[in-house]
Amino acid sequence: MASLEDIINIGKKLYNNDLTIGTSGNISIKTDNGILITASGTALGNLTEEDIVLIDFEGNEKENKKASSEKMLHVEIYKQRSDVKAIIHTHPVYLTTFAACHKTLDAPIMSENIIYFEDIPVAPYAMPSSKELVENTVKYLHDRDVVMMANHGAIAIADNPGNAFLKMETAEYYAHVTLNTQLLGGAKMLSFKDVQDLINLKHNKI
Ligand code: 13P
Ligand code: ZN
Repeated sequence: MASLEDIINIGKKLYNNDLTIGTSGNISIKTDNGILITASGTALGNLTEEDIVLIDFEGNEKENKKASSEKMLHVEIYKQRSDVKAIIHTHPVYLTTFAACHKTLDAPIMSENIIYFEDIPVAPYAMPSSKELVENTVKYLHDRDVVMMANHGAIAIADNPGNAFLKMETAEYYAHVTLNTQLLGGAKMLSFKDVQDLINLKHNKI
């Protein structure tokens, strides 16, 4: 079972891999007793146990600390995706660049991105911490695990904190490589057949 320590360690890893900056972003894990989530305004690279708050499955603080301003986004994802046990929201530089330009990541430029994601769309803009942001974002997570949030950042969800980290890291790598290909005049895209073969491979059909 994931614990406070996992949140602290993932926060450090996010910071050390340039996946978070300043006090942006938040991390949560689902436990039997409720959701453990970072407190509002904390620097993810430097968390202590005091910076983590237990909330119930409706988002009410169960202790006297202020949970992340995005707590309802986390609550709603756990409600709608029973397989999800960990959520990371950060503002990584390349994903946030694509989010600022409202550009979906879906170009078939490397086998890895097709196996991992197929696509990473941009959920329409809404004010941070708003109900509208929750609505706009959660619907993109019904059938995928990473989405960008327009003019804001990205969110990655998984069955444990380590896998949520890997998804954010790999998504950021995809955004970085995509931007680099554009600097070099555009990637040579994989063919339709290459893409179908990779999707079949992912679903163990070949
Ligand atoms: P919190 O510090 O309240 O979690 O907010 C950070 C953030 O990224 C808001 O979108
Ligand atoms: Zn944010």
